[in-house]
Amino acid sequence: MENLAETFLKLDRKEIGHLKAIERGMRNFEWVPVEDLMAKGRLSPKAVRGGLSKLVAKKLVFKTNEPYEGYAIGFAAYDLIALSNLVDGDVIVYLGDLLGVGKESVVYEALGKIPARGADERAAETAGVAEEAAPSLPLAVKFHRQGETSFKHVRRVRDHLKDQPRCAWIHAARLGAAKEFKTLKRLYPEVSVPRPIALSHHAVVMEHSGGIELYKVDLKNPEDCVEIILEQAAAAWKKGIVHSDLSAYNVLVCEDGDIVIIDWPQAVSQTHPQALELLERDVKNVVDHFHRKYRLDFELEEALSFVLGEEMPGD
Ligand code: ADP
Ligand code: MN
Repeated sequence: MENLAETFLKLDRKEIGHLKAIERGMRNFEWVPVEDLMAKGRLSPKAVRGGLSKLVAKKLVFKTNEPYEGYAIGFAAYDLIALSNLVDGDVIVYLGDLLGVGKESVVYEALGKIPARGADERAAETAGVAEEAAPSLPLAVKFHRQGETSFKHVRRVRDHLKDQPRCAWIHAARLGAAKEFKTLKRLYPEVSVPRPIALSHHAVVMEHSGGIELYKVDLKNPEDCVEIILEQAAAAWKKGIVHSDLSAYNVLVCEDGDIVIIDWPQAVSQTHPQALELLERDVKNVVDHFHRKYRLDFELEEALSFVLGEEMPGD
């Protein structure tokens, strides 16, 4: 598979425009009729015959002839649309390699601009705010993929699914990204989560956390780490949020021993009817991991009441 940055560089403005025209049409159609694309002067017949067929050859656009000539995009093109918006908005100035492919996402590393600084710039520098003084900001760009399976499914059996909502996958992925961004904004900086930077379509831009997944590291002080993780779960609970997918895959461990909890789209509020169950499952995942890997014996009950704020650390 070609790198997203390479694909992006090989596209011109017009082609991005074509992808966006199809995306607009997909608000109403699963397969956008060619007439709809040409209506309102959005695309010329020449653009359709030339430009679109090139995009079809690049597999960025899909074409159907039955029951009418129609076009659709998939996640590859949708990623490019979000990326183009983020580049135009000066959020991303450089897109790097793939950072990770998760259950429901594709994450790239990137660089962003340091936000313009005000008059207190000097004060901040003398106060040693290293992050503000860095030349550029390391980012992680997470393209959500929530609806991927339903998309493939819908494509295969599309003729039998006349009543399905149009483009469930676009909706699901956008919703996932919006939920994650909102949660990060709510939790940062009190809880150790990546700093949220921007949201575009189904893409969440956040600060690159620079750690390694908990399941990959061999900790020297596992006791300290489990406590830090539970403290962060407690801090999130205090803000009314349960992660709901907390595991050794979603905790990044930094060199200095700090941790960052990532992957928040499925987080629920404390008022959710299953909030306590989900919190217990989160805590159990953490306790089980440290038991399996480091033979640490933490009582689930104790860990849970600590997260709920019923006990002080070290008790
Ligand atoms: P998924 O729901 O697909 O598991 P994640 O949010 O866990 O999505 O991201 C997938 C992978 O991308 C992570 O396991 C991690 O390696 C990497 N990643 C995600 N966010 C960041 C970040 N802010 N900083 C560094 N790496 C990240
Ligand atoms: Mn994950």
